[in-house]
Amino acid sequence: MIDYFKADDWKIIEEGFNPKMNEIAESVFSIGNGMMGQRANLEETYSGHSLQGTYVGGVYYPDKTRVGWWKNGYPEYFAKVLNSTYWSGLRVWANQEEVDLAKVTVLEFRRELDMHEGLLSRTCRVELKNGLRLRIESKRFYSLISKEYSALKYSITPEQDCDLRLESYVDGDVQNKDSNYEEKFWEPVTEEAVGDNLFVQVRTKKLDWHLVTATHSELYKNQKRLSTVPAVERRSKYASGTYKVSAKAGDRISLVKHAISVSNFHHATDSLLMHAKKQLQKMAASTFEEHFHLSSNAWKQKWETADVVIEGDVKAQQAVRFNIFHLNQTYCGDDPRLNIGPKGYTGEKYGGSTYWDTEAYCLPFYLVSSDPAISRQLLVYRYKQLDKAIENAQKLGFKDGAALYPMVTMNGEECHNEWEITFEEIHRNGAIAYAIKSYIEHTGDRDYLLHGGWEVLLGIARFWSQRVHWSEWGQRYEMHGVTGPNEYENNVNNNWYTNYLARWCMDYTATQHKWLLAEHPEEFKTLITKTQFKSQELEKWGHISHNLYLPQFQELGIKVQHDGFLEKELIPVADLPESERPLNQKWSWDRILRSPYIKQADVLQGFYFFEDDFSAEEHDRNFRFYESYTVHESSLSPCVHSILAAKIGWPEKAYEMYLRTARLDLDNYNNDTEDGLHITSMAGSYLSIVQGFGGLRIKDQQLHLNPHCPSQWKGYEFQILFNNAPVRVVVNPKGTTVLNQGSKAIQVNHPNGVLTLEAGESGKF
Ligand code: BGC
Repeated sequence: MIDYFKADDWKIIEEGFNPKMNEIAESVFSIGNGMMGQRANLEETYSGHSLQGTYVGGVYYPDKTRVGWWKNGYPEYFAKVLNSTYWSGLRVWANQEEVDLAKVTVLEFRRELDMHEGLLSRTCRVELKNGLRLRIESKRFYSLISKEYSALKYSITPEQDCDLRLESYVDGDVQNKDSNYEEKFWEPVTEEAVGDNLFVQVRTKKLDWHLVTATHSELYKNQKRLSTVPAVERRSKYASGTYKVSAKAGDRISLVKHAISVSNFHHATDSLLMHAKKQLQKMAASTFEEHFHLSSNAWKQKWETADVVIEGDVKAQQAVRFNIFHLNQTYCGDDPRLNIGPKGYTGEKYGGSTYWDTEAYCLPFYLVSSDPAISRQLLVYRYKQLDKAIENAQKLGFKDGAALYPMVTMNGEECHNEWEITFEEIHRNGAIAYAIKSYIEHTGDRDYLLHGGWEVLLGIARFWSQRVHWSEWGQRYEMHGVTGPNEYENNVNNNWYTNYLARWCMDYTATQHKWLLAEHPEEFKTLITKTQFKSQELEKWGHISHNLYLPQFQELGIKVQHDGFLEKELIPVADLPESERPLNQKWSWDRILRSPYIKQADVLQGFYFFEDDFSAEEHDRNFRFYESYTVHESSLSPCVHSILAAKIGWPEKAYEMYLRTARLDLDNYNNDTEDGLHITSMAGSYLSIVQGFGGLRIKDQQLHLNPHCPSQWKGYEFQILFNNAPVRVVVNPKGTTVLNQGSKAIQVNHPNGVLTLEAGESGKF
């Protein structure tokens, strides 16, 4: 754990340059706009440790799957998010000496991420070996308005007269850190360098993804544009323009770089270069400041609905905004083919692919904090991949339209290759169905069932009905050979969570069938024909649902994680020596598998999803039992525990778990922030406050609150979208105030009663 970044309500601040922390800072200060993004690599040459990362949504590389022992059904490739053309690079020489922060003396250094406006900035003062001192300032952003545009303003103020040389470049000759044998994934197509404009087009060696990166540079002296003509250079995958300028002490020399990045994910390959040229011309017609103004206003608007204010704890305040900020710059619902990789645009790990994290964690965040259209895009993403999910299930021996969504995917195809996860961690299918339910409950948009929802539910229900089997001996249905969310246990039988979820999926699909038949008989007929649905399927689901085995142990009043769990050597985590943690770094894999230790919520994930099915006592017993064996070695774990601890009235535990989720990356809890940020678990941090401490639930379009104020805080408030209208909730130890900022009356349910609030009205509990 580190205590490195300065606390501030709206900013992340790094004071002083610490090369050992550079890669961590590069992750933390990452910026993006939902379509593309970048780690906070220093603009000028840096020969110290750095993970260069510039990523463009949708573009990936199918790296050949490498395993020792091939198993039928494995995917051919593992999709890697591509480190792409680096647009923000500069080389800076002052009196012939190159500025490189690993070589010069850094006198002052401050890096800041302004989350309110979406701006990364840096100021530093350096002394070169030749004795020259320079002040450097840079500002960089990705536009939230023009999604193909990003920009940099880089200024140098020398303290003595000097000659400066600035090489502004676009470099497509980049590599992934995780590539096998240091292979490069990009090939050259074309390079142009004409005056202030640079263009580099590259294509991937496989799949033929094309990317054009174009920049327009402008040179200023004391805010006056210079007409200096750059010396241009072109080579394979690279273009640059070098500007020379003499500066007097105190002159401010600025280079503005407008950048356009476009790929054939969004445009036709043939016209890509032309499109980039037109866009660049258009964007370069306005100033850096004008573009930034528009983008920062868009950020301010996002904050209007998504912000959480915490009083009396600046670190907690900073942390929750950090989480909200990164989620919003990873995904904005612009394109239903994009999704939320566990590291977003901040690193290579997890390949930038889609996991069940999206539905189980991120969707609830977007549902309460953003326009419902954004959440709907996440559902449409899976709908568009339904055919691939059916194909995937067929490959594994399922039939008749059964769909198994991949554990890890870029385009609907599975690209994960550990058998215990690829074939067995099938609970992901259930989370996708559950997301449809949550979306309908929040938005009331039940018609979505006609536009994809029903087909997805059907494919999933069909899968479960084939995945269970009838046990003659037990006279019940069972499900064998699965991995639950707890990946520290594989190939188990009757994982309670998976069985419960499977049963729910079949029941829910049957209920939606009834509704569609009654409310939209005509349209539904078309769907029935399209999906070749037969009413016998309903009977089958009903039979399974009534007879599916759900392990439990009455004496302890708990659900049993899976067959055999209680027969393990049950030593609580509290009795494990600290020196043996984290287990995944200290213990052999077989020892972990034999142990009772739980990586992340498993039975408790089921309690989180289906809370209304269980009594307060069941919650209490199951939480206390399973929490004592949980090591939280997945970033997705503490948030669910925080929410459940708040629910059962264990505030200390709720707060402990909240801290662990909210500052996970800022304080580098898991010692891996340098790889990138844990974007998907960031949604859990937000939910720990809003659903956990705030007790917010939206069910059947009814707003429920049950707020508590952690004793560490003076109070907190959050703004949510309910029925697409803003509602503000203010909580402090004296009570809760709810303000209806929408234009229609709302009803608020609270354990102390029900309030009806007219438009603009506020009420207290
Ligand atoms: C977790 C999974 C998760 C994945 C990506 C793993 O460590 O166990 O549940 O989907 O990370 O975040």
